[in-house]
Amino acid sequence: MRKHIFNAGPCKLADRTLENTSKAILEFNNSGQSILEVSHRGKDFQAVMDETVELMKEVLNIPDNYSVLFLGGGASLQFCMIPYNFMKKKAFYLNTGTWSSKAITEAKMWGEVIEVSSKDKAFTYIPKDLNVPYDVDYVHITTNNTIRGTEIFDDWTFDAPLIADMSSDILSRPVDVSKYAMIYGGAQKNMGPAGATFVIIRNDMLEKIADRPIPTMLQYGIHIENGSMYNTPPVINIFAIRETLLWVKEMGGLVAMDKLAADRANMLYNAIDNSKMFKSPVAKEDRSRMNIVFVFEDQYKELEAEFVAFAGSKNCVGLKGHRSVGGFRASTYNACTMEDVEVLVAAMKEFEEKHA
Ligand SMILES: *Cc1c(COP(=O)(O)O)cnc(C)c1O
Repeated sequence: MRKHIFNAGPCKLADRTLENTSKAILEFNNSGQSILEVSHRGKDFQAVMDETVELMKEVLNIPDNYSVLFLGGGASLQFCMIPYNFMKKKAFYLNTGTWSSKAITEAKMWGEVIEVSSKDKAFTYIPKDLNVPYDVDYVHITTNNTIRGTEIFDDWTFDAPLIADMSSDILSRPVDVSKYAMIYGGAQKNMGPAGATFVIIRNDMLEKIADRPIPTMLQYGIHIENGSMYNTPPVINIFAIRETLLWVKEMGGLVAMDKLAADRANMLYNAIDNSKMFKSPVAKEDRSRMNIVFVFEDQYKELEAEFVAFAGSKNCVGLKGHRSVGGFRASTYNACTMEDVEVLVAAMKEFEEKHA
């Protein structure tokens, strides 16, 4: 039986993605070969790459003056590639938790970082009304904070190029891509398996490259010129991403994903807010719809491991909070169903009736 999967990443994927990727591993396009055995430069795989890029453009409504790349190295390599390519003197970083902090560490190697942070309240909110100096090379934000459970829901406007880490909320709502110079993320939260990184980049960013030697593999221009095939791309990941994008389309696109995300999160936050045992540490207006962080009221803290085990007995997995935060986290990405959430909410109620 398939579990109710609330893992934070890698995480639950759509059945279509799992089924068709498995089939392509056994045999790709009636070729008598696995997709893992064919050349990435053959016409069959090239067609998969082209279609995946086209689907990204269609599903995310990406304007023509942007390129879509699939690279290796994870979102974490982008933390380094972004300042390496674009930081001439200084950049503005919004620090909303672990991932933005890591991005800032890399950026500081290349110039001055102007930082606004929500560290003062343990990253439980999103700072607003940012005072961004006029002369920064770019602004960097993390739209969804996978570990702390906060999220930015609208597309902000700045004078400087805006670069967003959307690892954990890409494909969960319609995005006005034209507001961003670049959007990137690890694919392993809403798109596919770990091992591919998506980059959506406005082509004119190539005119803003810093004047320093940049290793070939770290140049955006090289990857754009070579259609993500300067080296061997992560083929199976790209195939799985294509299947996920086709699934998103079948389900009604990002408008439908947006509604499902709201429905799942509302149900779970309502259960948390109406409980005497559980509570949310996150500022209400900034609560993530993808990673729902919750904790016990203080007097129940010693029951944490017991609750995780109890939820496990109801086939709910992946609920332990990140090791840096504790408590619980239910990651409710696109493939998570209302039924998954209903089972979790019922388990929370039953546990509370027993112990509170
Ligand atoms: C998971 C995650 C990352 C790290 O991604 P990798 O692909 O493992 O490098 C970065 N940013 C955010 C917001 C994430 O959720």
